[in-house]
Amino acid sequence: MADVENVVIIGSGPAGWSAAIYSSRANLNPLVFEGALTTENQQNGTLPLGQLNLTTEVENFAGFPAGAVRQFVLSALDEESHAMLPPVPKDEHGQDEHKYAVMGPELMMLMRQQAKNFGTRIVTDDVVEVDFSVRPFRIKTLEGQEVQAHTVIVATGARANYLGLPSEDRFKNRGVSACAVCDGALPRFRNKPLVVIGGGDSAVEEATYLTKFASKVYLVHRRDELRASKIMQDRALNNPKIEMVWSHTIDECLGDDERGLTGVRLVSTKDGSKHERTASGMFLAIGHTPNTAFLKGQVETNAQGYIKWKAPFRTYTSVEGVFAAGDVADDYYRQAITSAGTGCMAALDAERYLADKDIH
Ligand code: NAP
Repeated sequence: MADVENVVIIGSGPAGWSAAIYSSRANLNPLVFEGALTTENQQNGTLPLGQLNLTTEVENFAGFPAGAVRQFVLSALDEESHAMLPPVPKDEHGQDEHKYAVMGPELMMLMRQQAKNFGTRIVTDDVVEVDFSVRPFRIKTLEGQEVQAHTVIVATGARANYLGLPSEDRFKNRGVSACAVCDGALPRFRNKPLVVIGGGDSAVEEATYLTKFASKVYLVHRRDELRASKIMQDRALNNPKIEMVWSHTIDECLGDDERGLTGVRLVSTKDGSKHERTASGMFLAIGHTPNTAFLKGQVETNAQGYIKWKAPFRTYTSVEGVFAAGDVADDYYRQAITSAGTGCMAALDAERYLADKDIH
């Protein structure tokens, strides 16, 4: 086996890249496993570059006010990645916007480029197994690569939840989606009734967003009161295109192989009564699950599977030398900027750990 790595970073969202930028600038020569380009990852929403790569404009990442973003992005990225950029947002006349907020995929490609510029090594593969009971730690990938590392930063993020119905699975990518901003503008959803499931900020945000395309949006919530913040609730409740369907959940997704999803059968959580609604899309916004399965319980998590930080304002996990950053350890803030911040913290924690142990 090759030399022992100082820092292995698992994950390629804002936390992973910030950790890589900081640790490469500290001469730790980090190795990032950014994830694999598999169909399974595509279906699960766990492809490289994380959840931000599934969004459109990001208006709240400090330092990125709306502007001539594409010009800057093209100047910053290696030429070979230009082809992977999403189309520039259009104005009301169908022309490219001159001034827009950075798009999620652009932001992620910039972060990756920044890490690369400082010498970060990147492997496009999933980590499928780790052994944290030995020193150095051992890490194995889907394609069978094995590496050893003195420190590991886990930054694998979280993915959207689904209801778990077989009929939902059948219509994934054919009407069923967990990302309104990724899929909402697709032709199949235009001027058609759509369904959004959930009662949190994501659900009301997605329902509001989808009114741009849909003829009507049914917001289906299992209780008779929303969890979302007041301001977001008001926005949804005052939107004439949104109809609340209180105290219901989905019994079955309806459709056929030719047309994909054509409707849903709703079931009342109060009296079990059922009725159907026509819809060409169903968007899930029922929370997230952290991507920690590959750890196989070797790092302590909370009841929902999020990695626990063992000290306030430190990215230490239950395993000395293993640090956690971003959404995989955060079920509360879940923002790109907080995620990037904790990635920086994890890199600094790893650097200090290596210095304390006289490893680097
Ligand atoms: P969330 O707050 O956990 O809400 C999940 C919603 O899904 C809840 O209403 C829950 O119902 C419902 N739900 C869960 N499992 C379900 C099931 N099996 N069947 C039907 N419904 C189910 O998740 P989130 O909306 O993704 O928000 C997560 C965090 O991100 C929050 O802190 C939120 O404030 C933040 N966020 C902020 C913004 C923003 O400020 N722009 C946007 C998006 C998210 P119950 O209410 O009955 O539990």
